[in-house]
Amino acid sequence: MTGNIFDLQHFCTGDGPGIRTTVFLKGCSLHCPWCHNPESQSFKPEILLNTMRCIGCGACDGVCPAGDARGTLASASARTSVCGSCDACANVCPSGCLEVAGRRLAVEEVMREVLQDEAYYRHSGGGMTLSGGEPMAQPAFSRVLLEAAKAAGLHTAVETSGDGRTEDFLATAPFTDLWLWDIKMVDAALYRELTGGDLHRMLANLEAVAAAGATIRFRVLYIPEFHDRDGIAEATAALLSRYPQFEREVIPYHLLGNAKRDKLGLPQLRFREPTTEETSQFTRLVS
Ligand code: SF4
Ligand code: SF4
Ligand code: SF4
Repeated sequence: MTGNIFDLQHFCTGDGPGIRTTVFLKGCSLHCPWCHNPESQSFKPEILLNTMRCIGCGACDGVCPAGDARGTLASASARTSVCGSCDACANVCPSGCLEVAGRRLAVEEVMREVLQDEAYYRHSGGGMTLSGGEPMAQPAFSRVLLEAAKAAGLHTAVETSGDGRTEDFLATAPFTDLWLWDIKMVDAALYRELTGGDLHRMLANLEAVAAAGATIRFRVLYIPEFHDRDGIAEATAALLSRYPQFEREVIPYHLLGNAKRDKLGLPQLRFREPTTEETSQFTRLVS
């Protein structure tokens, strides 16, 4: 079985306990405007072009077997419409300014790479984390990969928006030691407007996974211009108070995703980053 992967990072320390390898799955059912991995949203391969490093040598012209190679540089839409993930353009680029996001890898290939760091997992209590994109947007691949990791004795974690089919969450739960569960926005209309998702579906999945005895760590997004609106911070605290057994951490919005948006030809984001004091206040409220 193969899955659509856009990155695989070793020695991660923020995606669960210990030292971990995080596997980033491409494709997401939501389209959060604050997404710091915008190349993860589409299921199609995409080319990220660092225009600041491009020296205009033309080496990538004509190499693309999927279409007009000039299109790989000309516009974001051309870059995303033709790519078949062959790596030819990235391989000829002398300045390393082209990256290909999205390729199909077999469970065995991913496990071979993940198991390279087995000794580090053993000594640190780490393991493998699935992130994205949305792992539950590729439920069969995620489940089989997690099952393989558990069979190899690894600790497993899944970072999720909570969007997907309840049966897929429940089928994955037996192979998931920790869910890193994003809480983005608790107002249903605003959630729909901003992410395209259904808040009630996310909440139903959360309830089902919690009832199945899972361990969850909440990751609570904080963007002042949304979360400081009347009653939203309080509603976030009320939701979390229904699950006192689970840990939570506040993730203050940051602008780091703009570098990738630039490489994809997307407009820059303009949300304001919270101050340390604002983040502390929000954290106190939801803790
Ligand atoms: S990775 Fe291959 S298919 Fe994709 S744009 Fe580059 S040359 Fe074309
Ligand atoms: S090969 Fe790289 S440096 Fe040369 S034109 Fe293409 S993107 Fe720019
Ligand atoms: S759920 Fe996560 S990966 Fe999907 S769009 Fe939102 S922030 Fe990006």
